Amino acid sequence: MPLYLHNTLSRKKEEFSPLDAANVRMYVCGPTVYGRAHLGNARSVVVYDVLYRLLRYIYGDGHVQYVRNITDVDDKINAAARERGISIKQLTTEVTQWFHDDMRALNVLPAEGMMIEPRATDHIAQMIAMIERLIAGGGAYVAQGHVLFSVASCRDYGKLSGRVQGELEAGARVRVESYKCDPGDFVLWKPADGEDDASSVFMSPWGRGRPGWHIECSAMSTHYLGLDFDIHGGGSDLMFPHHENEIAQSVGAFPGSGFARTWVHNGFLTVNGEKMSKSLGNFVTVRDLLDKGQKGEVIRYALLKVKYNEPLDWNEKLLGDAKKELDYLYRKLNEKSESFSGSFYEELYDDLNTPKALSLLLMSEGSQLKAAGKVLGILQQDPELWFKGGAEVGTDVQPLIDARIAAKKAKNWAEADRIRDELKARGILLEDRPDGTTDWRRE
Ligand code: AMP
Ligand code: ZN
Repeated sequence: MPLYLHNTLSRKKEEFSPLDAANVRMYVCGPTVYGRAHLGNARSVVVYDVLYRLLRYIYGDGHVQYVRNITDVDDKINAAARERGISIKQLTTEVTQWFHDDMRALNVLPAEGMMIEPRATDHIAQMIAMIERLIAGGGAYVAQGHVLFSVASCRDYGKLSGRVQGELEAGARVRVESYKCDPGDFVLWKPADGEDDASSVFMSPWGRGRPGWHIECSAMSTHYLGLDFDIHGGGSDLMFPHHENEIAQSVGAFPGSGFARTWVHNGFLTVNGEKMSKSLGNFVTVRDLLDKGQKGEVIRYALLKVKYNEPLDWNEKLLGDAKKELDYLYRKLNEKSESFSGSFYEELYDDLNTPKALSLLLMSEGSQLKAAGKVLGILQQDPELWFKGGAEVGTDVQPLIDARIAAKKAKNWAEADRIRDELKARGILLEDRPDGTTDWRRE
């Protein structure tokens, strides 16, 4: 049964056929680490986690390479670190840890094995090398300490998003910097300003500074996946200009390369029809919901109730329905009926139709629920534990945490571990924080 994916490049649903079935390669734009992930960010991560699981199901665990980057150098990061009076390194380390904690709670697979999570700041050399290639080939120029990509050098610019350069100029609301030859030209390298903290300043042939955002993804995808790879994903807000610019840079630096073959874009998570975003202030973080006692798996289920490329309007009812349906499925996990509808996989193979796949799970009778749930990243818990882990647990957790902190202070490691294990057996996981306090959450 072939897998079909909607390819933004062709604007069609296409049969997916990897360049090399023994080594399927996918790159997805990851978070910019300056604050807690909100539900819109989580939607993107969960969607590609399901696609990764499905690809592993089809091609085998050892045959799918997945790269999801961490953007740890950016204007927003600089501003947030300055506001908190901490270094960029401190901020990005802390926020990356939050991201991992929150995504783990949503059953997102961690970066291990064939999945890599490269940080931009560890790949400055690859970015510089790519920028040098672009300059040498006439695709980029140096102006007032900046290096800019010359959009005029790219014949196909706009082929992904359908936007053309004329439109860019007409639609430009911001003042065009004097050092740009063309208003559509974008920054590959920008000079450090006096206020930049040392951990975000790097040496380059063009002086001290830092890379532009777009070049990060071109350099890291090429470094790990080669010049031609199978899938590139991200939210639909990234289609233009980020992904358009990635193509221009990669093909500009390596003429003749194909870069990504299939471009997948997840739709927005919205609130009353408006995109959830930090700048609009209409966001709910994953942590907000977990702290209110919501289970991560329920949040994940809610995110999968709408097809990945359609808008998903977030509301309490969606979460309530997700909870009821998951409870129902966990109750069914105990039943021993053998029948199971094979069309569950057909729905997933049809451009990741998770809402239809979920409705088939709800209608099915079956012992294969757990196997099917694995591809979606749900239903992997012991049903008994699932029901025990309701909102009612927790009142006695804090005293145990306090007792454990006291035991650690007294260097009584055995007692501290015993308390951790006792809570783990009840499905409660502890997370020690750098400031000495301990958080807990349900597994
Ligand atoms: P950022 O940290 O803003 O760079 O975003 C990380 C990822 O989340 C990107 O792939 C974005 O496209 C995606 N994203 C951000 N907001 C939303 C939203 N409201 N709905 C869906 N995806 C989003
Ligand atoms: Zn990217």
